[in-house]
Amino acid sequence: MPLQDIKSLSREELRKFLCDNGHKPYRAEQIYVWLFKLMMQTYEGMNVPAELCRLLEQNFRIKSLREELKMESLDGTVKWLYKTADDLPVETVMIPTETRASVCVSTQSGCAMGCAFCRTGRMGLNRSLEAGEILEQIINVCRDFKVTNVIFMGMGEPLMNLEAVHRACVCLHDQKAFSMGKGRLTVSTSGVVPKIAELLERNTPCQLAVSLVAADNETRDALMPINKTWNLTELLKAIDNYMEKSGEWVTLEYILIKDKTCTNKAAENLIRIVKPRRCKVNAIVLNSNENPELQAPSEQEVNEFLELVRAKQVQINIRNPRGRDIFAACGQLARAVV
Ligand code: SF4
Repeated sequence: MPLQDIKSLSREELRKFLCDNGHKPYRAEQIYVWLFKLMMQTYEGMNVPAELCRLLEQNFRIKSLREELKMESLDGTVKWLYKTADDLPVETVMIPTETRASVCVSTQSGCAMGCAFCRTGRMGLNRSLEAGEILEQIINVCRDFKVTNVIFMGMGEPLMNLEAVHRACVCLHDQKAFSMGKGRLTVSTSGVVPKIAELLERNTPCQLAVSLVAADNETRDALMPINKTWNLTELLKAIDNYMEKSGEWVTLEYILIKDKTCTNKAAENLIRIVKPRRCKVNAIVLNSNENPELQAPSEQEVNEFLELVRAKQVQINIRNPRGRDIFAACGQLARAVV
């Protein structure tokens, strides 16, 4: 049975483990600082008694991922491929802008949701990641870059691994660890309706983004199998409830696909959904994929769509695709392409 990753433990759990084994509770805070502020990867470097060092070594592993590949895009985006201790692929992307360095982390190896436009979906699910494996992706990027934002939008559906995602967000927000404000942490879901309510109940320190992708059930059914379980009516109800109870905005992610989601009719559907809500829309043009039925619209089609939506005072931002040349853009993460 492999050892648990020490980074998966909450500060409270670590404190209890230490007390149960005859050590002072304050050691938990010290160890947290060494793990998440100083980002140590061995116990030896920690200034703790040798006996405690041995106890930790015998009970917890400190490192879970090994780097297999690092690729840098012409636009500065960097993608890493890691392998877990049980040899499963995990990908992480860092997207730099003038003011930010955002890390897009994976929450699962592969994904079970099967979205038609996504390479990860075609892999199927290997398994969900531990909180420690999610945090280690961020620690690794922090060694090379000053990370400002974390987006849970890499491989996997974060809300199908909510326990680990919650633990990771709490640690990222913790003053003794990463000290990142809630506004800098975004959890994105394809629409796992019951888990949106759970995220709210747990008071997870994060913002919510929802991959709307399409604004009518027929198109969404064809692109995202999850829509057949929780359709748009149910999803929008969950979003409304989240916004009402949290008082926060929700970001809707929309993908512009030729003849499907980038038409006049699609613009009308999107306006109908967004206009009455406190949502902003981030749109991206479909990235290259292996599905011949899904094509990117022309620049003119994109501009016409944006004009129609903006004419109704709906806030829609178009995000520039990043890291396409290294298959690091949205929907492109998959072991098969590296
Ligand atoms: S888009 Fe997200 S939820 Fe859908 S298959 Fe890809 S990784 Fe999974």
